[in-house]
Amino acid sequence: MQNQTYHYAIIGAGLAGLQLALAFSRDAFFRDKKIVIIEPLAKNKNDKTWCFWEKGKGKWEQLIQHRWAKGAFISTQKNLEFELDPYQYKKIESLDFYEYAQKIIRQNPNITFIIDEVKNTTQSAQQVNIQTTQQNFSVQHCFDSRVEEAFSKSTQYIKLWQPFKGWHIQFDKAVFNTQQFTMMDYRLQHKNSTSFTYVLPFNANEALVEFTLFVPTLIDDELYDIYLKQYIETYISQLPYTIKTVEQGVIPMTTYPFHQVNSHALTKIGTAGSWVRPSTGYAFKYTEKYVQKIIANLKAHKLPGYQLINRKTRLQDALLLDILYEKNHLGPLIFEQLYEHNPIERCFRFLDGETTLLEDIQLMNTVPIRHFLRALWRYGTKN
Ligand SMILES: Cc1cc2nc3c(=O)[nH]c(=O)nc-3n(C[C@H](O)[C@H](O)[C@H](O)COP(=O)(O)OP(=O)(O)OC[C@H]3O[C@@H](n4cnc5c(N)ncnc54)[C@H](O)[C@@H]3O)c2cc1C
Repeated sequence: MQNQTYHYAIIGAGLAGLQLALAFSRDAFFRDKKIVIIEPLAKNKNDKTWCFWEKGKGKWEQLIQHRWAKGAFISTQKNLEFELDPYQYKKIESLDFYEYAQKIIRQNPNITFIIDEVKNTTQSAQQVNIQTTQQNFSVQHCFDSRVEEAFSKSTQYIKLWQPFKGWHIQFDKAVFNTQQFTMMDYRLQHKNSTSFTYVLPFNANEALVEFTLFVPTLIDDELYDIYLKQYIETYISQLPYTIKTVEQGVIPMTTYPFHQVNSHALTKIGTAGSWVRPSTGYAFKYTEKYVQKIIANLKAHKLPGYQLINRKTRLQDALLLDILYEKNHLGPLIFEQLYEHNPIERCFRFLDGETTLLEDIQLMNTVPIRHFLRALWRYGTKN
């Protein structure tokens, strides 16, 4: 097999790989770099609905299908509604993103797109050797979105999961408030767990309704359908509806330090690089932020992964994950107090990892502090 050489390889053309390739193709600094992207799938399916909050106009405006100016948090005790201004909650379909990104990247003569599966990578002093089912590559730096195998075997770190199933449903009559999405509705829960329903109304008749959990153990698949049906009939409408599409996934919520395998020649990206915020499962905006930082690091001749992952947010996440692991039933109370006693702008800044020390103290004052102190003590004894 012939060995092909490139400056950079990107393994995986998903969210992280494509955002990184887009950034390379848009920046004249990388014009003389030969880049290869390796992805086994055609990526021609709409497999994810990506949502995120953002102030004003962002980078992906042409892809935004829906945006909401208001949000709601609902529990058995509270019905909190908030104006998101200056933020908006925005939605992108993954297929639109894949097609848009691939079209731009394929126009760049320096970037080669290869449909193939990476089987193995080995590192030597100055390069990474990549073996796919059909070819071999040697690259100066490899950006890798495969989750390392050691994760599934590890027992040392807190591991929770965010499994979810969503139905895109359509009623014949208008039943939804199109201005407002529901971030978390805890009125229907699986046993005593942190489980909630998330509702994105697309128009007065249609919405994506998802049943989600933040739990240490996955639940039986048929339960999602039971909960979705129950939620729709109890809290939306008893009118007949049709299910247009189904979305399902599992996002890891973990303190596992994926990024610690980063080296002089290899940088893990996306879920595989700790880019999913462990306490929320959101990654879209973090991906944008980390890609920008990688580009800045490369231009400054630093390692791409230099100072990418924020220690403060990882500690905050570790404490919340510890509580959810030890006392999963506390999730609804913690999130209720967070959204009830803080302006939404502060909550979003916190979830974005952008709060000041003063804001962190204000936030800590609003949640059940003794549980966080116990989690901090447990964290201290383990680390
Ligand atoms: C259904 C779903 C909905 C989500 N919704 C949101 C949301 O609303 N907002 C948000 O912020 N986050 C959301 N997330 C979380 C996160 O944004 C996504 O998981 C995101 O896709 C992670 O990006 P990634 O690049 O790490 O992984 P992916 O997008 O999955 O990309 C990884 C790529 O690597 C490829 N690959 C795997 N193995 C190999 C191999 N051996 N060789 C070559 N390529 C390989 C895969 O085929 C894939 O294309 C969601 C996650 C899921 C699962």
